[in-house]
Amino acid sequence: MVREVTTDGNGKATGVSYINKEDRKEYQLKGKTVILAASACSSARILLNSKSSQHPNGLGNSSDMTGKYLHDSTGSSRAFFVPDLMNRKTYNEDGVGGMHVYSPWWLDNKNLDFPRGYHIEVWGGLGMPSYGIGFGAAEMNKYIGETVGGYGDKLREDVKKFYGSMIGVSGRGECIAREDNYCEIDPTTVDEWGIPVLRFNYTWSDHERKQARHMHNTFEEIMHNVGGIALGDKPGADQDYGLLNPGRIIHEVGTTRMGDDPKKSVVNKFQQMHDVDNVSEAIESSPKYYGRTTEEMYLDDALLEEKFLTVHELETLVVLCDLILPANDQFGSAVDAGVPEFIEFISKDIPKHQLPLRGGIMWLDNRANKRFNKVFKSCNAIEHKQLADEIAYPDKAAPELSQGVEFFTLVRDLTLTGYYTTKMGVDDLGYKGNQPNVWDGVPDDVLKEHGLSYDEEWLAKCVDQSTRNETAQWDDDGNLIT
Ligand SMILES: Cc1cc2nc3c(=O)[nH]c(=O)nc-3n(C[C@H](O)[C@H](O)[C@H](O)COP(=O)(O)OP(=O)(O)OC[C@H]3O[C@@H](n4cnc5c(N)ncnc54)[C@H](O)[C@@H]3O)c2cc1C
Repeated sequence: MVREVTTDGNGKATGVSYINKEDRKEYQLKGKTVILAASACSSARILLNSKSSQHPNGLGNSSDMTGKYLHDSTGSSRAFFVPDLMNRKTYNEDGVGGMHVYSPWWLDNKNLDFPRGYHIEVWGGLGMPSYGIGFGAAEMNKYIGETVGGYGDKLREDVKKFYGSMIGVSGRGECIAREDNYCEIDPTTVDEWGIPVLRFNYTWSDHERKQARHMHNTFEEIMHNVGGIALGDKPGADQDYGLLNPGRIIHEVGTTRMGDDPKKSVVNKFQQMHDVDNVSEAIESSPKYYGRTTEEMYLDDALLEEKFLTVHELETLVVLCDLILPANDQFGSAVDAGVPEFIEFISKDIPKHQLPLRGGIMWLDNRANKRFNKVFKSCNAIEHKQLADEIAYPDKAAPELSQGVEFFTLVRDLTLTGYYTTKMGVDDLGYKGNQPNVWDGVPDDVLKEHGLSYDEEWLAKCVDQSTRNETAQWDDDGNLIT
C-alpha cells in the first residue's frame, strides 16, 4: 500500500514509500520514473500525501489543482413491466445486464436545456437466476388484476409467468467538471495502514439535474412505446430526478487535471506532472480481475463455519419453505433444493435479514400458539395452511397481522432466490442462456408471436452460422480472412 512518492533535495521523484500488508512495516522502492496508476481518487491521495519542503502542498501541486475537477458519470434509472413479455418461451438468451445494450444518441443537442448528453443502458431478459430472483414475483399480479401474494403451485407459476417481462433503463451521462467538486486529505482520519484518507466535497448542478429530468422523460417515452407499465414513481425535483449520489456510478475521473498551463493543471498532454517530470499518471486503465477473489472465498468459508439459526428456527424454516414451494410431479421442493441452508448462509452474509427472520419466527410461533396452542412446526397441514393464508396475501391480510405479512414476504423472497439459483430451480425455470456457439437468434415462433422477423439481407451480411465454430484469422495487414 503506497503511502507517498519520495523526492530528493531538488524535488524530483526518487521512488515510493509503501506499507507491506503482510508484516505491516514501511519500505522504500527506488525508481528513475514513478507512474501512478492507483485510479483517479487514490492517485490524487498519494500525491496530496507526498508533502516535502519542495512540495509543501503535495507533490506537483503548485497549481493547487490536485483533487479538483473530480467528477463521476450521472446515473438515474427506471424499470417497467411489459405485459406482452409475460409467459415467455425460454431459449438461448442470457438477458442483458452488465454487458449493456446502448441506445445511441438520437437527439439534436441544440434543443436541449443542458450541455453534453447521456446514453441509456438497457437491462432485462431471461437472465441467469441470481440473488433477488423471484423477489416480488407474487406482487406483480397487481398489474394484471390478479391476487397479490400467495404460495405453493401458484407461486411457482407466477415466477415463470413474470420471468423476463421486466425491462430496466439506466441513464449514464456526462457531468460537467467543476473546480468546486474536489477531494482533499482528511486532517483527522487515517486508514488501517496509518495513511491519511480522502474526504469529498461534491454537489450536482442544474446541468446534471436537467439531464436526469430529460432521462426520465425519455425512459417514459420508451416505456410507452413498448407498452410497459412503470414500476415505482417517476422521481421529481425533490429527489434530484433520481440522480444517484456522486461516486455511485464508480466512473470517477478528473483529479489530476491535464492541460498546457502549469498554473491551471497538474499534468501535461503526456500525463507527466508539470512540476515533477519523472512522475506520470496512468489513470483509467482496464480492470484485470473478474470472478471470485481469494478474500471472497475466505469470507464464504468463515460464514459457513458460523451458526446463526437455532435448531428450532431451522426446523420452522424447513416447514415454512416447503409450504411456500412444495414439490410437484416434475421438481423437488424448496427443502430438496437446500433452501433452509441457503437462508442460514444468507442471514450471515446479509446480516440485515437476521432480526426480521428471528423475530418473524417468534411472531409465527406466537400466532400458532394463540390459534392452535402449539408452535408453528408442530401444527398439522390444515393448520399450516390456515396460518399461511392469513399472511400470504398482503392486500387481504388483517392490519394487526402486518408483521406476519412482512415476515412471510421475506421468507417467500428468500425461498424463491434459494430455489431458483440451484440446478433444480434453473431447470424448473427453463433458463437456457450461456450456451456458446449455439445462438441461432430468437426462434422463429417467438418472433412471429411479436409480429417480428429478421431481415434476410442483414442476416446474410452479419451471421454466417456455418463458420461459427471456426477461429477467426487475420492476414499480416489485419484484414479478416475467415
Ligand atoms: C463495479 C464496477 C463496474 C464498472 N463497470 C464499468 C463499465 O461497465 N464500463 C466502464 O467503462 N467502466 C466501468 N467501471 C469503471 C472502471 O472499472 C474504472 O474506470 C477503471 O477500472 C479505472 O482504471 P484505473 O486503472 O484508473 O484504476 P483501477 O482499475 O481502480 O486500478 C487502480 C489500482 O491501484 C491500486 N491502488 C490504489 N491505491 C493504492 C495505493 N495507495 N497503493 C498501492 N496500490 C493502490 C488498486 O488496488 C487498484 O488495483 C466500473 C467500475 C466498478 C468498480
